[in-house]
Amino acid sequence: MTLVNVLLDLPVLDPPPIYSYTVTEDQQQQAAMGRRVLVEMGKNKMEGWILSHSQDIPAGVQAKPILRILGDQPEFNQSTWELAQWVAETFLCPVNITLKAMLPPGSGRAKPELIIPTGKMAVREGYPDDFADDQKDFISRLLEEGHMEWKEALHFIERGQLEEMRSRGLIKMVRGRRTTRRDGKEWISVSEVFDAFTQLPILRKRAPRQAQAMEYLMGLQQCKGQKMERQFGRKAVLSLIEKGYIIRHSGHIDINDPQYTLTEDQDFCLQELIKAARGKRNEEYLLFGITGSGKTEIYLRLAQQVIADGQSVLVLVPEIALTRHLTKVFTERIPRLAVLHSSMTMGDRIQTFKRISEGEVDLVLGTRLAVFAPLPDLGLIILDEEQENTFKQEESPRYHTGQVARFRTQREEALLVLGSATPSLETFYRAAQGQVKVLRLNQRVGDASLPRVIVEDLRKLTTAKRYDILSPFLMKCLQDQLDQGRQSILFINRRGHSPYTLCRSCGKVLSCPNCSVALSYHRSSNENICHYCDHHSGPVSICPVCGSRALQLQGAGTERVEEEIRLLFPEARVERLDTDSSRRRGRQEEILDMMQSGQVDILIGTQMVAKGLDFPQVSLVGIVDADSMISLPDFRAGERGFQLMVQAAGRAGRGPVAGQVVIQTYNPDHYVIQGAASQDYEGFFAQEIKWRELLQYPPCTHLLRIVVSGENERAASLTAQKIKDAIDEALDAQEDLPVILGPAPCPLARLHKRFRFQILLKSPNLLLLSSIGRYIINRERKADERLEVDIDPLVTM
Ligand code: ADP
Ligand code: ZN
Ligand code: ZN
Repeated sequence: MTLVNVLLDLPVLDPPPIYSYTVTEDQQQQAAMGRRVLVEMGKNKMEGWILSHSQDIPAGVQAKPILRILGDQPEFNQSTWELAQWVAETFLCPVNITLKAMLPPGSGRAKPELIIPTGKMAVREGYPDDFADDQKDFISRLLEEGHMEWKEALHFIERGQLEEMRSRGLIKMVRGRRTTRRDGKEWISVSEVFDAFTQLPILRKRAPRQAQAMEYLMGLQQCKGQKMERQFGRKAVLSLIEKGYIIRHSGHIDINDPQYTLTEDQDFCLQELIKAARGKRNEEYLLFGITGSGKTEIYLRLAQQVIADGQSVLVLVPEIALTRHLTKVFTERIPRLAVLHSSMTMGDRIQTFKRISEGEVDLVLGTRLAVFAPLPDLGLIILDEEQENTFKQEESPRYHTGQVARFRTQREEALLVLGSATPSLETFYRAAQGQVKVLRLNQRVGDASLPRVIVEDLRKLTTAKRYDILSPFLMKCLQDQLDQGRQSILFINRRGHSPYTLCRSCGKVLSCPNCSVALSYHRSSNENICHYCDHHSGPVSICPVCGSRALQLQGAGTERVEEEIRLLFPEARVERLDTDSSRRRGRQEEILDMMQSGQVDILIGTQMVAKGLDFPQVSLVGIVDADSMISLPDFRAGERGFQLMVQAAGRAGRGPVAGQVVIQTYNPDHYVIQGAASQDYEGFFAQEIKWRELLQYPPCTHLLRIVVSGENERAASLTAQKIKDAIDEALDAQEDLPVILGPAPCPLARLHKRFRFQILLKSPNLLLLSSIGRYIINRERKADERLEVDIDPLVTM
């Protein structure tokens, strides 16, 4: 009998709950690191993971036996375990939660719920006429695919509709896991290991069907996975994949893709990066290139080089949907590529992780969770649009993807490349201190030049009724584009029709019953919606406070801008792109494809239209309400506003036609507006960093944020005060005392029915802040109160 160390699946931060258990002779074979096990702890049974074996039992130790070894294979290896420990320690999160955030959900555990059609549905009995179109679409899809994960089904159809179909006996739920995905998007091509000369004759003798499949594929070079399966059978295709003769990838590889000649600047950056990748590693580069300067092409060629040199690559993007151009280029040109993001089904994620860890993948393209992809022999991590907030996880473990990527590249001796037109202040600050090497691209590729930016001072306009959303100037610009058959984008960072409803007799604003936030009016659904807790309520005609009928919609969101544009330009083809308009799966693609092929004249939208789109025919970008982007009570509001405006402006003039940008504002002299207007990042940086320094905010110092929330306002406030007192007490003897702000109500003082109070601690000493965080987390607290502890938070709302 030997002993193993087991990490219990318990949320304990300090010290991690690791205990010794015994394994029997029979179990020994299976008891590998990373295996999930069932053990006894006190009187309870619970799960955990095997970490390591130790020697024979020392005399006097009373260890209990492992009850059962679960699953069929290890869930992680040594390198993942080390990464988990570092993340847990750095971001103050219990290591079991960290591990679960890193591994694909449900790996080795209960299988997810699958929806299957019943016989009743198959014969289309009780398949009522009153079903909506999307319900009918869903039914035919389900019948075609045979089964679908619950979570996936929600992409196509509302939860309520699913429940209804279940109650009518049309579908039922079983436990299981989807194996292959049959969305027809998967392509297959011949892999480079297949040697027709020697291997084809053997196949012909032993597996004629597989040989036929290979011959067919060699003729075509590539083919849709579904088609291959239909023609040669699933078994043949799978067994060719297992042999490694063919490979699957997620898009058609365009063999005739135009290969650009790199510009001089691009080539210089690429050569420097290749040198860095081949030379001594542990280096970090910032590819600082203006919008449209051709960063993607550099990433791609660098990745291809690293792969050709025999290593693997990780490319991280803020959101797959917002990086269409990049995703397209990569999926088309890297054959052994896997995509990883959070809206994939569990089955797909588990399978993808498996393929990655088995070395079947050269490049992983994904969102923040992909930073944990277990790629063997990692040579390069690219973080595109590194300043984006989505790289920070806003629940425990509150890691920042960039920091995890940095840790991984240092430990695995790989190269880290950050890319941006508007780097985060953190990154540029580190660059200024020589910790990051900067490579610049100051020109757009081709004949394109940066757009001309005009700041439209709204103060000068008399408040004539019609002009409260679009100034006459912006209207004229739009008309000019229409006349010349060019495209325009209008950017407004709020969805819905009106961001708030004001009562003109008592002055109150209609607000969410759960949050201290105004309700947004949405005309398409005729509802008032809270954008924080998603509370929906019907239209209101009487003020709930004073009973007056003098309610007035205020401000503008995307719906209202759309309404206005349709009224002003009835002949224009207008589309709106925001989370509401693109809820139906595929709709977003549809709108963007229409834009691409010139079927849209004016595209109106939120951030979705500000980022990553590459449409050469767009010659005008209007930033409708710049002030709403710089007025948030958060120390990063200016930085974020600047980034958004520059990004939005960057959508204009990417082709041969010169671009123009109109920024509408009541604060034309504001340094953020001025910075965005001149698109001068470094000028903006110099100003912004000065006041961060002055007020002591990151990146000039570190910040620890503690938020206490609870349904009882007084109790939560008291708890926050007690925490503050405890910190004061513990710090008494310290020399380098941190600055402590609060406790005070958070700017969003109430969310999801919970009152929120925050304490901010500032200190250049990160270790000190982290030990304070640890000390606070380990303190007892009331069960109904929640505590968030965040080191260097991105948002302090
Ligand atoms: P960024 O990410 O820096 O904003 P992109 O990588 O999107 O820029 O490139 C902008 C456009 O220029 C894309 O349409 C891309 O295909 C094109 N492009 C990139 N490099 C070249 C080149 N060397 N010659 C011609 N076109 C290029
Ligand atoms: Zn009122
Ligand atoms: Zn709410």
